[in-house]
Amino acid sequence: MIITQQKDINEIYEMVKNYKKILIAGCDGCCQPPRSLNEAKVLGQLLELKARTEGKELKWKAITVLRQCDDRIAATTVSPHIENYDAIVSLACGLGVVMLNKVLPKILTFPAQNSMFGGAQNSGENSFIEYCEECGDCIIGETGGVCPRAGCAKHLSNGPCGGMVDGKCEVGGYTIPCAWVQMWTRLKEFNRLDLFKKYRGPRDYRTSTSPSYLTIYKEYTNEKEEKVEAKE
Ligand code: SF4
Ligand code: SF4
Repeated sequence: MIITQQKDINEIYEMVKNYKKILIAGCDGCCQPPRSLNEAKVLGQLLELKARTEGKELKWKAITVLRQCDDRIAATTVSPHIENYDAIVSLACGLGVVMLNKVLPKILTFPAQNSMFGGAQNSGENSFIEYCEECGDCIIGETGGVCPRAGCAKHLSNGPCGGMVDGKCEVGGYTIPCAWVQMWTRLKEFNRLDLFKKYRGPRDYRTSTSPSYLTIYKEYTNEKEEKVEAKE
């Protein structure tokens, strides 16, 4: 899921203060903490109050979208509402904000969130953690299932570095476990320190997935695949 953090209300207000009527769109998709209809209503109330302190009147309406990052769902859900509004404020992650600007090009959509990372949920610890940064070249078969790219602050291919003390990383003030110590511990448990000792060359950024693009139809649909191949 995408972990987001709501922007400061003053920052959101600055983006929309020149508009009189705004549509606030929550997202029921995977962004966490939840940013759905209730959160959209609360944001509308806060923006309205902020406008009043400046002697202005701001009208707003809150809606929510099943997934703002799906073009058809985003377009069909939001387009019936936009006619009477000057701008949209999105409570989705950046994917949703980009998507609304794309599928509804005649109205500007502004972000209410900062998108932080793709995180896994650890309910026992009440936390979200970035276990994978979707690099496009998964090497955790060599590292005991611990990711050195998402887990190591310096994204090292061979570690640990000299900044590790008592199993903790210098980045973050020795509060976060060193990913390379976690790898060593796990591989030792399975008598696979041969993998730990293996030298890994510099990362090959030609396999980098950023900016990402995946042709869904070519991957999953025979019909489209034939058409694409015929064109080529
Ligand atoms: S190496 Fe790490 S960042 Fe890359 S795909 Fe595997 S888990 Fe994700
Ligand atoms: S201490 Fe460990 S996690 Fe931190 S940067 Fe060095 S190798 Fe990476």
